[in-house]
Amino acid sequence: MTPDEDRTRMADLLHRQRSAFLHDGPPGLALRKSRLARLRAAVLAHREALKDAVSADFGNRSRHETDIMELACVVQAIDYLSNHLRRFMQRERRHVPFVYRSARAYVEYQPLGVVGVMAPWNYPVSLTLVPLATALAAGNRAMLKPSELTPRTSAALRHMLAGAFAQDEVAVVLGGPEVGAAFSALPFDHLLFTGSTQVGRKVMRAASDNLVPVTLELGGKSPAIVARGHVNDRTMQSVVYGKLSNAGQTCVAPDYALVHQDDLEAFIARYAATVQRFYPDGPASRDYTTIISDRHYDRLRGLVEDARRNGARVIEVGERPAHLPGRERTLVPTLVVNAGDDALLMQEEIFGPILPVRTYGGIDEAIAYVNARPRPLALYYFGAEDGDCARLLARTTSGNVGINNTLMHVAQDDLPFGGVGPSGMGAYHGIEGFRAMSHAKGVFVQGRWNLPGLLHAPFGKLADMAAALTLGRTSRKP
Ligand code: NAD
Repeated sequence: MTPDEDRTRMADLLHRQRSAFLHDGPPGLALRKSRLARLRAAVLAHREALKDAVSADFGNRSRHETDIMELACVVQAIDYLSNHLRRFMQRERRHVPFVYRSARAYVEYQPLGVVGVMAPWNYPVSLTLVPLATALAAGNRAMLKPSELTPRTSAALRHMLAGAFAQDEVAVVLGGPEVGAAFSALPFDHLLFTGSTQVGRKVMRAASDNLVPVTLELGGKSPAIVARGHVNDRTMQSVVYGKLSNAGQTCVAPDYALVHQDDLEAFIARYAATVQRFYPDGPASRDYTTIISDRHYDRLRGLVEDARRNGARVIEVGERPAHLPGRERTLVPTLVVNAGDDALLMQEEIFGPILPVRTYGGIDEAIAYVNARPRPLALYYFGAEDGDCARLLARTTSGNVGINNTLMHVAQDDLPFGGVGPSGMGAYHGIEGFRAMSHAKGVFVQGRWNLPGLLHAPFGKLADMAAALTLGRTSRKP
């Protein structure tokens, strides 16, 4: 299809969805729940096909990871939304000032209409379907644009959703950056983009032409800070889990570690031992995911080489199973110790199984390091919930925080999920997502007594009294 044909087709889909939305009116609780139930049933029915597709797109993606980190997250999010929807949809009574007392004020959460969802490749199922579930819960229709780097998964999602929803309820558009650019220029009622900060800028620029409100779920370098004396099993298990799940291709993976200077060698030894424990067959393990594309594989190797050239200590844990078919893009878990600030891997988001480790002396040094850099999507702290921990939380700003844990904050449906500054704008999941995709319409209903209604020109004593009631008596006479 030519770019013009793509644009026309997408504009036509949007028109059809919006017309259907306006024709049918806002869906009630039962219809929203039935849409969520349809989505849930479709995911379970296509579970194996989705896992096959994701694994084929990656080369090798652990099937357990797809089950746990994608499909289970989607089903859990659907269930949470469905179970709490009645409360989310409820009209909220709001305060009215004393002089308006016989009136009422409330907020009605109204569906926006048609929501656009743009997704990346790293969790291609959950990052498409959790936003979709949120859009449906909020009573919207949705158009989805999954990533071109996972073509089988994107096609499987399109097939699955076409079987569960009419095109004017949910539609999937396939294509690369050109289609993405045209998609982001459509006059949606809301656009949720998950992807890189760099593309996020372009998406927001395109959306601004139509004043489309955006939720941007972007990336960044999320630190893991390990307090002195806390290099233990619990810490290492969580750091390795966070770094090597999906081979580090996780937006909230710990990007780098800040370890107390007294604990550096213990951290290195324990990291390697934990990796070996998680993957007894080394990087050849079926549970170890490969890198999504040659370009990303070369980029990651380039980051390690750049650090090595600049004198950093590079430690590879295991050997590359180059002989195994489909596993050519396996990148061995790698530690890079004390890379300098000018090393590329200390500047750009790594998004792979490479962990730079730097040391610090006191908590203020760690805080200063974090604050000298763009605000991260996640921040992890391993240590006691003591004064240092409180200081770190108060003095740094990140999307979310995990204490003695990596990644699991994302699986908490009742926590907002979103970055801040260059790591994102807005949030979704749970009620925050429901509200991001709803219009909070304030409604004021006049009561029997309308005192403020008496306050019109020509003003007199009554106006003076009303003003005195809220502002106090004025000393200056007119
Ligand atoms: P990406 O920005 O390259 O692509 C995301 C989407 O944008 C894809 O659908 C792609 O087709 C589309 N796109 C590409 N170029 C475009 C353009 N010029 N205009 C409009 N759309 C365009 O991101 P990616 O490589 O797929 O994913 C990795 C990035 O996503 C990382 O930075 C990661 O941190 C981030 N991420 C963030 C979250 C989060 O929830 N905050 C989750 C996962 C990934």
